[in-house]
Order: sequence, then structure tokens, then C-alpha cells
Amino acid sequence: MLHHGAPRGGRKRRVNSDTGVEAARQSLSSFCMTACRASCCRKGFVVLRTMDEAALLGVPWDQSKQYAVLDVRKGCVKLEGDACSIYAQRPAICREFPLFERGRTLVIAGWCPGYRAGLLDRFVQDTKRDGRTVIVQ
Ligand code: SF4
Ligand code: SF4
Repeated sequence: MLHHGAPRGGRKRRVNSDTGVEAARQSLSSFCMTACRASCCRKGFVVLRTMDEAALLGVPWDQSKQYAVLDVRKGCVKLEGDACSIYAQRPAICREFPLFERGRTLVIAGWCPGYRAGLLDRFVQDTKRDGRTVIVQ
């Protein structure tokens, strides 16, 4: 999945879900393309939460569980080179990765190479300073 800095500058900033998280995701974008090369579009499984997303990705919708699962272990079907061919329409989980807001809790996909390289450190520090809970999984 390509998903996904923190604003620069020494001033203390208030983190909010409209700008802070999305800016943090965006701060990864050049690393995603040049260093990581879309690892998250080639690893594990992508959980799709709507029928439209399932249809777009061509996987069966599980009516009883109300989700669909896309296997990307050999690379997502929508990956072209290192880029997502449906970027503007990509599923919600792809937009969120590697930062997931759950109320005032921020869950980080700790295996993300961009996170591991420290590119989100400032954002994480600001989030904690804001009194929010940060969970790295
Ligand atoms: S839909 Fe796009 S962003 Fe999501 S896993 Fe596939 S290639 Fe990656
Ligand atoms: S795994 Fe992390 S660094 Fe790599 S492409 Fe995905 S969001 Fe970017």
C-alpha cells in the first residue's frame, strides 16, 4: 500500500485528525516510492470494509463477516511497478496506512520501513504530547 511529514518547525503544534495525521502520511511519500518501493502493497493481507472496495479489487465480499480480504503477498493486483494504479480510488485502509486513528488512540503499523527509519518520530512525539495514546503494532 502506498499510503501514506509532519509539519516542520520548532513551534509546538496541536495535532489534529484533519491535518496532522494526513500530513504525517504524506511525509512518507517520497520514501515510499524511492526507498521502500511499496512494501505494504506486497505484504500480507488487505482488509476491505465495503462492497465497493471489494468489487474494485475483484475479491469476493463475505456477507456474514461484512468484509473482504485481499491477498497481496505476491503484490497487489492494482500495483503497476511501484505505484498504485487506482490511487485516487484506493481503499480506506490503503489511505490510512501506516497510521490508524481510533478515537484518541493512534495505532501505528510498526513494521513500516518509513516508521522504522524515524520519519514519523516527530509526529509521534507531538501526538503523545497532545495527550493521545500511541500503540505500535
Ligand atoms: S489498492 Fe493500491 S494502495 Fe492498496 S494495496 Fe493495492 S496497490 Fe497498494
Ligand atoms: S510500508 Fe510504509 S514506507 Fe513502505 S510504502 Fe508502505 S507506507 Fe510507505
